Amino acid sequence: MDSAVRFRNVCLRYGKVVALDGIDLEIGSGEFFGILGPSGSGKTSCLRLIAGFDRPSDGAIELHGRSAASVPPYDRDVNTVFQDYALFPHMTIEQNVGFGLMVKGVNRRERRTRVGEMLEMVRLEGLGERRPSQLSGGQRQRVALARALVNRPSVLLLDEPLGALDLKLRQQMQVELRSLQRTLGITFIFVTHDQGEALSMSDRLAVFNRGRVEQVGTPREIYEKPATRFSAEFVGDSNIVERLDAGLRSGERGVFSLRPEKVHLSTREPAAREHATSVAGEVADVQFHGASVRYVVDVPDGRSMTAVVGNLGSRAEQPAAEPGTRVWLNWSSDDLHRLRESESG
Ligand code: ADP
Ligand code: MG
Repeated sequence: MDSAVRFRNVCLRYGKVVALDGIDLEIGSGEFFGILGPSGSGKTSCLRLIAGFDRPSDGAIELHGRSAASVPPYDRDVNTVFQDYALFPHMTIEQNVGFGLMVKGVNRRERRTRVGEMLEMVRLEGLGERRPSQLSGGQRQRVALARALVNRPSVLLLDEPLGALDLKLRQQMQVELRSLQRTLGITFIFVTHDQGEALSMSDRLAVFNRGRVEQVGTPREIYEKPATRFSAEFVGDSNIVERLDAGLRSGERGVFSLRPEKVHLSTREPAAREHATSVAGEVADVQFHGASVRYVVDVPDGRSMTAVVGNLGSRAEQPAAEPGTRVWLNWSSDDLHRLRESESG
């Protein structure tokens, strides 16, 4: 894998605040790489270092295999789409998109051609004369994208670019961004706090927590094999199984994650099976999600577990468990995944 961006033990401090605390990360050339984490976990700080707006307090950053230490932002082959788009309100869309080229001294004719190509690519042909205030949120988002891409960067940084859009538009833009990245073949580094978005869009992603990387992997690896309790709980829904460890092969102790869709719920006691565990409980809450139903079940020791059952309609019998119903939850020990404790606690 040719690396586009590499972090070697990078720390970033703002006075006493430690924004990044020893980041090691390698992002491949041409990857769609997600950075996922809660607010304040250091995602934007990471992008600022790549763009060169900030310098690491410790450690080193390489771009395409070369130290970035002495490369100023305008000489980095990197462009950013900011969270709030940061468009110039007094300029037309064409002027906004062409701004970077003008600063670089690209002549008017070439500018017109390249801006035209970009507007076509993000499907804004014919809107070049308008100003940002005359566009919808989704259209402004595309202008920001066109403005960053017109410079033909090899790395595009996107900081929560879809956060301001409503759900339908967001889903549509997710598909468009993915296909744009495939067409262009450049590296996209996409920051989000939305786990569904990170899983569905990324080739690989890093899970951030308090300025550290908890885990790096493909969406499937992170979902199926969360490394830490934080990953297990932040990415998707998870049962953390500590004491309900009957059914484990003897000697296996520790903390495990168990995804709710791997937990079967029945209103009758299941027959004992090898490597399977069952526990009785009482339904505390039933949440209808359309495509699935989520059951929260009180189990012994004052704990609760969740089971998610697909809404299979006429193809299967639904458990029909109301709150208060006695049910049995059972799962296979193959679906338990052992967790290590997060370093950041
Ligand atoms: P995220 O983008 O994941 O929400 P940030 O990278 O913006 O997180 O911030 C990481 C941490 O650094 C937070 O605790 C934030 O308050 C702090 N921080 C970010 N920028 C500054 C700054 N300019 N001055 C002081 N603290 C900052
Ligand atoms: Mg941020």
